[in-house]
Order: sequence, then structure tokens, then C-alpha cells
Amino acid sequence: MRIGVGFDVHCLVEGRKCIIGGVNIPHSLGLLGHSDADVLTHAICDALLGAAGLGDIGTYFPDNDTAFKNIDSQILLGRVRDEIVKAGFQIENIDSVVMAEKPKINPHRAEMKKILAKTLGIDETRIGIKATTTEKLGFTGREEGIAAQAVALLTFR
Ligand SMILES: [Zn+2]
Repeated sequence: MRIGVGFDVHCLVEGRKCIIGGVNIPHSLGLLGHSDADVLTHAICDALLGAAGLGDIGTYFPDNDTAFKNIDSQILLGRVRDEIVKAGFQIENIDSVVMAEKPKINPHRAEMKKILAKTLGIDETRIGIKATTTEKLGFTGREEGIAAQAVALLTFR
């Protein structure tokens, strides 16, 4: 068994979509980044790559490569899944936390799980998504950005 951890942060700005876990959440602010800036999906990518000893998301998808500009992060996660499988692993489970003052994550959690499970080719019951505020403390509390953390457990097939 191999375990991996991933962490990601993106700024909240005007004029961008707020895509978290593949869901485009209606919000006055959106996440800034080279790709679609899906903070949760990126944390999951890093957890998976870390568990497999395959580096991190920047290794595979450099943020100076125009091919990845505004790209749907589910495409990136799908490629990560392919690398994991190629290396001989299968995904046992993923757990994650999204840290955000706003928007509310819980109303969208079921859809996020559905999208992520489809991308990863695993059952929804193997994906955990939790949400927390940081009690108005720090950059997440001031609504300057959103953070996400994920762990992934892999086994050899
Ligand atoms: Zn990111």
C-alpha cells in the first residue's frame, strides 16, 4: 500500500469561474490559475502522484505550457489516473477537505463525488469530500483564496 498527500491553494478574483471538484459553483468570485484552477482536483492529483512516487502536478502539466491554459482539470486528473494505472497501482480511496469561507461546498458535494468518481473510474463511496471554514482566520477566512487538501491510498494491482 502507498499513501500520498496533496495540498493546493488558488486566489479568489473577479471574472473567473469557481470550479471545485469539477463543479462550476455560482459565486461572485472565481479561482485564478493557469488551468481552470480547480483547487480540489489539483490536490487530489498531487495526492495520487505522491502516493505512486511519480512527482507532482507541475511535473506533468507545467503552468508555462499554453496547452494547459484554462484546461478542464478533470482532463488533468484523468491523465494522472492513467499514469497511476500504468505504474501498476489501483486507487483504494481518496479523502479530502476544502477550506473556504464561501461558497458553501456541501450543496455541491454529491455532484463533485460523481464527477471525480467518473474521471477516476472508481466508486463514489471511495471518495471523501469534506468542507470547512477557517473561522474567518487567514487567507481563506478573508475570502482571498480557497485551499484544498487530499490524501490517497493506492495498492499494487
Ligand atoms: Zn492548483
